[in-house]
Amino acid sequence: MKTKRVVRVPTISLKMADIPPDDYSWRKYGKKPIKGPSHPRGCYKCSSVRGCPARKHVERALDDPSMLVVNYEGEHNHALSLLTRPISY
Ligand SMILES: [Zn+2]
Repeated sequence: MKTKRVVRVPTISLKMADIPPDDYSWRKYGKKPIKGPSHPRGCYKCSSVRGCPARKHVERALDDPSMLVVNYEGEHNHALSLLTRPISY
């Protein structure tokens, strides 16, 4: 089952590249810009684990330029603790 989650976060700068941090690390993909006036969209996939199906898309809120809309899709196939906990445990 595909999960989808939408979160609104305040824009931290004017650059779309500055996406708000969350608990996972993300890598940008899909450089193709969407046609249309000033509606950039960033596509990211989880870079924590190879093959993780989780994705997120970031775009500016249409009704509020100071907000970003983050769409999460897919579930991570790994535990978050892989990243945050030292391996020598
Ligand atoms: Zn992941």
